[in-house]
Amino acid sequence: MLAQIEQEHYQKLHEILRLCRANLKNYDESLIQRAFFMCYRAHEGEKRASGEPFFYHPVEVARLLVTELPLDGVSVAAALLHDVIEDSEYTYDDIVAELGTEVADIVEGLTKISGIMVNRETTEAEGFRKMLLSMVKDIRVILIKFCDRLHNMRTLDSLPEHRRLRMALETRDIYAPLAHRFGLGKMKVDLENLALRYIDPKMYDYLLKKVQLSRNERIAYLNKMIVPIKADLEKQGFNVEVQGRAKHLYSIYNKMRLKNKQFDDIHDLYGIRVIIDTEKLSDCFAVYGYITQKYPPIPQHFKDYISIPKHNGYQSLHSAIIGPKGHVIELQIRTRRMHEFAELGVAAHWRYKEKITKDDAAVDSFLKWARELIKDADSASAFMEGFKLNLYHDEIYVFTPKGDMKILPAGATPIDFAYAIHTEIGNGCIGAKVNGKIVRLNAELRSGDRVEVITSKSQKPKADWLKIVVTHRAKLKIRAAINEERRMEIEKGRNMWDKMLSGTKKLFTENDAIRAIRKHGIKTPADLFSALANQQISSEEVMESITRPHKPAEATEGGVQGKAHKEFAEIAREVQERPTQHKDEVIIAGMNNIAYSYAKCCNPVPGDDIIGFVTTEGTVKIHRKNCVNVTNENLVKSERIVSVAWNRKVDTEFLAGIRVVGEDKIGMTNQITGVISRFDTNIRTITLHAKDGIFVCNLTIFVKNTDKLTTLMDKLRKVQGVFTVERLSA
Ligand code: MN
Repeated sequence: MLAQIEQEHYQKLHEILRLCRANLKNYDESLIQRAFFMCYRAHEGEKRASGEPFFYHPVEVARLLVTELPLDGVSVAAALLHDVIEDSEYTYDDIVAELGTEVADIVEGLTKISGIMVNRETTEAEGFRKMLLSMVKDIRVILIKFCDRLHNMRTLDSLPEHRRLRMALETRDIYAPLAHRFGLGKMKVDLENLALRYIDPKMYDYLLKKVQLSRNERIAYLNKMIVPIKADLEKQGFNVEVQGRAKHLYSIYNKMRLKNKQFDDIHDLYGIRVIIDTEKLSDCFAVYGYITQKYPPIPQHFKDYISIPKHNGYQSLHSAIIGPKGHVIELQIRTRRMHEFAELGVAAHWRYKEKITKDDAAVDSFLKWARELIKDADSASAFMEGFKLNLYHDEIYVFTPKGDMKILPAGATPIDFAYAIHTEIGNGCIGAKVNGKIVRLNAELRSGDRVEVITSKSQKPKADWLKIVVTHRAKLKIRAAINEERRMEIEKGRNMWDKMLSGTKKLFTENDAIRAIRKHGIKTPADLFSALANQQISSEEVMESITRPHKPAEATEGGVQGKAHKEFAEIAREVQERPTQHKDEVIIAGMNNIAYSYAKCCNPVPGDDIIGFVTTEGTVKIHRKNCVNVTNENLVKSERIVSVAWNRKVDTEFLAGIRVVGEDKIGMTNQITGVISRFDTNIRTITLHAKDGIFVCNLTIFVKNTDKLTTLMDKLRKVQGVFTVERLSA
C-alpha cells in the first residue's frame, strides 16, 4: 500500500502527523495513518476543479483543523475522510470497519449536512443555520465543516463564477454567523473576508489597497504606543503581550455601508490589544486604569464584556483611547484564556476540557457557557455535553416538495407537517411520502426530510390523530374538525328524531328516550342524536324502549335501615317488596302462607345465606345472614328469628346493590354501565360520587342469583381503574 503512494503524497502524511504532535495532546497516530490511506485510496484518480489531485483537499482540511481548531485525533481522521461517503465508493460501514464508529459517525454527519446544502437559496439563512445544528449530534462535525468551507473559500478561484458567488453568499449568511455563535472569532473573520472578496470584488480590492497603503504608517504609529505601554505594564508587574491590530476588511465594509461612510471617515481602523498572563479578572481593570492614565479614554466606548460576556461567551474589556495626533484607537484588554476563547471559541473549551472535568464548579460554568453559546430569543433549551450537540434538537427542519422549509417541533409527524401547510391538507391527509418513500401517519419526521402529503377528499380527521400529533396547530385543527363533525351529526340525528316524532303524538320527550335507552351509554340528547345519525341505534329501537312497560311500581316499607347507605335505602324504598305476589320464592321453616319481604338494607338474592325475622306486624323480613343488622343485638332480642331457604325453582329477578370504587376518570361510568349492559342486566338506579380523585358508584341492578351477581362483579373488577366491587349492605 505504501509503495503505491508517491513520495510527494507521502510527505503530506508526515506533515499532518508533525502538526498533530505539535498541537494535540492525545491522539492515535495509527488512526490518522489509516484515515490518510483510506482517503488516498478513496479519491485516487480524482481531480479538483483546479487540476490538483482531489485528495489534497481533505488533507488541507485536516491541516486547517489541526492548526486552526486543534481538537483531537478522531476529528483529524474524520477531516481526512469528510468527502469519502459522498464522493467515493466507500460507505459508512467501510469507515466503521477501518476506523470505528466514532470517526464514521462524524463523516456521516458531514455527508448529511452537505446533502442538505445542495441547491439551497440562502434567503432563510437563520433557518438553515438552525437546521445544520439540529442535524448535527457531534460538535466536531460543525468544526470540520468550517475548515472544509474555509479551504473551499481559499480555493474558490478555480470554480465558475456563478458557483463562486453562491458559495460566497452561503459563507457570509450561514457559516460566518455560525462561527460567530460558536465563538470562533478568527474563523469568522477569515470567512467574512473571503466572502467579501467574491461578493464585492471591487470593494474588496479597494479596501485591501487602502489598508495595505497605510500599513507601514499604521505599524509605525501603533509601535509608538505599544512599546511604552508594554514597558509600563511590566514595570507594574504584569506579564503582557501587546498587539497592534487593524479592523478586518469585512467589518470596515460593513461600517461604511451601514453608516454610509467613506473609508477615510472611519476612525477606529487601528486598535491595540493587551493580553495579560493572569487568571485574575481584576487585572484587566487595573491595566485599563494604567493605560487611561496616559491616554485619555472615550467613555462612550467603554464596554465591559468581562462582567457580562457576549452570548457566544466572548469576554474582553473594550474601550477607545485618544492616541498621538488625536487618533481614536480601539483598546481591548483580556486575559490569555479569554483571548484563546475569543479566537477559538468552542474549540478552546476542548483544550480546557481535561482541567474542567476535574472540577464540578468548572463543569457547571462550562455547561452554562455552552448553553448560552447558541441561544437566541426563540430557542429556549440548548445544551451540550462532551462532544455532543443538543442545540436545536427540539426543532426539526423539513421541506415541501418545492423546497419550502417548515420548522416543526421534534417528534412531529406527517400530520403535523400537513397542518403546517394548510388546514385542508391536514384534514384530508391519508398518508405521506418522506424522501420518496411511503410512511405511516405516525412516522417521526427528521431534519432534512422532504415530505409529500397524500390527501383524499373523503378523509376526515380522526380522534386518534390527537395522540399522534405534537403541534398545537394540528391539535387545534383536528379538534375543530371533530367538533364540527359531531355538530353536523347531532343536527342530522335531531332531524331524524323530529321526523320520527312527527308520526307520533309527541307524548314523550328526548329525555324519556334517554331514560329508556340508558344502557346504550346514551346520557344526553346530543348522545341520542349522534347515536341515531351513526346508526348505533335505530328509531325503532328507541321507540320500542320508550313504549316497553316499566318495572312494577314500588310500595314503601318501614323497618331496619342502615345509616351508611342512605341513598341506597331510599332507592330501595321505591322498589316493590312484593310481600304477597312471590310466595314461592322462599321456604320459611314451620310457617306456611306467611307474608314476607326482603330487607332493603342487604337485598338478598337467591344463593345468599338468608335468615328471617318475624316482625311486630306478623310478617317475615328476610335478611342476608351476614347483614350487619342481623348481628344488631337490639333487633335480635326484640324479634323472633326464623330459618329461611330459597326455593330452588325461583326464576324471577331480584334487586341487588353493588358498590364500585375506582379512580375518578373520564369514561368510567360508561365503562361500568357498558359491562353491565353487555351482561344483559338492567340497571335500576345508579348514583355517583367523586371526591379527591376517587369515585364511588352505587348501583342497583336486577339479577336472578348470586352466581350471576358474582360473575358480574368479577367482570367489573377487571375494568381498568376499578379498585373494589362489593355488595351493598347496611
Ligand atoms: Mn470537502
